[in-house]
Amino acid sequence: MRIIQYVCLSLFFISIPLLAESEAPTDKGPVAIVIHGGAGTILKENMTANLEEQYKAALKEALIAGYHVLINNGSSTDAVKTAIVILEDSPLFNAGKGSVFTHDEKNSLDASIMVGNDLSAGAVAGVEVIKNPILLADKVRTDSVHVMMSGKGAEEFAQANEIQKVDSKYFYTKRRWIMLQKAKSKDEGKAFIPTDEANNFKFGTVGAVALDHSGLITAGTSTGGMTNKRYGRIGDSPIIGAGTYANKNCGISATGHGEYFIRAAVTHDICALMEYKGLSINQAADHVINEKLKAMGGDGGVIGLDANGEVMMTFNTAGMYRASIDTSGNISIKIFKD
Ligand code: ASP
Repeated sequence: MRIIQYVCLSLFFISIPLLAESEAPTDKGPVAIVIHGGAGTILKENMTANLEEQYKAALKEALIAGYHVLINNGSSTDAVKTAIVILEDSPLFNAGKGSVFTHDEKNSLDASIMVGNDLSAGAVAGVEVIKNPILLADKVRTDSVHVMMSGKGAEEFAQANEIQKVDSKYFYTKRRWIMLQKAKSKDEGKAFIPTDEANNFKFGTVGAVALDHSGLITAGTSTGGMTNKRYGRIGDSPIIGAGTYANKNCGISATGHGEYFIRAAVTHDICALMEYKGLSINQAADHVINEKLKAMGGDGGVIGLDANGEVMMTFNTAGMYRASIDTSGNISIKIFKD
């Protein structure tokens, strides 16, 4: 059954170019992948059938492409990058192409990635001309002695390392532009979690966590941050331990109101509860998202995998764009609460 599914997926997606499989695993443990496209006030009554289909199709494309890397013996890092690049290239999500606008009418992007076996991590914050910030974050991880780079310095590093740059106009989308104008007219000077009033959406950050055949877990997150943000505001997404964390036992990517996720060190806290208290990934995430974060007033969600490939998708909002393929090859693509 599983072999047939692998073959079908491979044949169907044979044309998807794989990223360099620099960390190709050798052993044959189970593989799994989970992705998100943001959490927030996502209600079925405010969503058209057509838009719902578009979101599901984009999630599916990213999920299957990441899974394709894993079943072809690629690393979890390459699977995470492959899935996130597809979400970054979609105008639907608040990351890469679909990023929200800052108060100064620019797009300022953040991303991070962490690999569980060696705790290596890379992050970029406030970049304005990088097409796929997740690829730059990974370059910081692999080709520098640092963990985090920001702004112009990060872009210089991108130039020196052949990471694709684009004209800042590339990030213009009418939908996000209108969102900024609405935010500005409503509350001058305040940063907003991106809200699409027509659909009452919030958030839109993207993330992925994968487990490869060798047991390696990687987690990554990419975002445009908050509509109308100013003063170089940076959220949780590029902060290791807040928006992204991975170790040998778990990998987590977060989405939500960044200020709360930073103060609660959400992704590290979940992994720490697993390590120090022996909680399962779903118990740990439930405690952090539905109890601790909620008590602080923080909205959002997390996705994750443990070393056995147990899938976790936990949120305290009305919905979260999310999808997974578990170790048995079962696919799940969901937006709203069950
Ligand atoms: N966490 C992101 C930030 O605060 C926003 C999001 O997840 O949508 O920048």
